[in-house]
Amino acid sequence: MVDVRGVHKSFGDNEVLRGVDLRVGTGEVVVVLGPSGSGKSTLLRTINHLEKTDRGLVSIDGDLIGYRRRGDKLYELREREILRQRAHVGFVFQNFNLFPHLTVVENIVEAPISTGRKPRAEAHAQARRLLARVGLSDKENAYPRHLSGGQQQRVAIARALALEPKVLLFDEPTSALDPELVGEVLDVIRDLARSGTTMIVVTHEIGFARDVADSVVFMDAGVVVEQGPPAQVLDDPQHPRTRAFLSKVL
Ligand code: ATP
Ligand code: MG
Repeated sequence: MVDVRGVHKSFGDNEVLRGVDLRVGTGEVVVVLGPSGSGKSTLLRTINHLEKTDRGLVSIDGDLIGYRRRGDKLYELREREILRQRAHVGFVFQNFNLFPHLTVVENIVEAPISTGRKPRAEAHAQARRLLARVGLSDKENAYPRHLSGGQQQRVAIARALALEPKVLLFDEPTSALDPELVGEVLDVIRDLARSGTTMIVVTHEIGFARDVADSVVFMDAGVVVEQGPPAQVLDDPQHPRTRAFLSKVL
């Protein structure tokens, strides 16, 4: 389970996260909504220590992220240990971020092999299973530039899964896609949800949130304004800011 407690983060004098609490149980899917600049991406980035928090802590399955506690003091982990922790957190970005000079299968096996997690043959066998899962078995040897945006994003999801993460973070995974390609990516994420993958998904796809989320979080100006089951937050929002936001995106 992912446990975010009292997280604060500023860039200069811009306080972007102002005390965020979020808990995501194992196998749960949390969808995060909120206006541009509300701190959604920053929140995801603190979860794998891509951003250091100013205050507050993140833990995953009981392990403090980025720090070690000794007595009542906290010490930041070394880079090598941070990278090891980060390997348990899959991250899927808006712009796919595939390695352009590697084929699809090479993109997927890169991390498991370079981190020593899997021998070559095993990593390739796993990559083929993952490609079948995202419906791209025929694209194994293609280069990213020869794939559609939807296909590239499905490869990015397979790549994130190759490290068998404890949690998958998605930052607007369909925002860069042509509308007709959104569905194929959401279908893959929906399938992961059904199989019990723990996920935090930042998205403006309200229909998807309604179907798939166990919990919907509405963020505004660096705080969680409202959180609850989709039927509650999306259909009967309590806070005026949630209502104003939903009236614009629905
Ligand atoms: P969007 O919906 O547009 O993606 P968001 O909710 O993801 O927005 P963030 O990207 O988390 O918002 O940004 C929140 C605020 O933090 C913004 O004002 C942004 O300019 C600022 N910010 C984010 N990253 C940095 C950074 N590395 N340095 C300085 N300011 C930053
Ligand atoms: Mg963002």
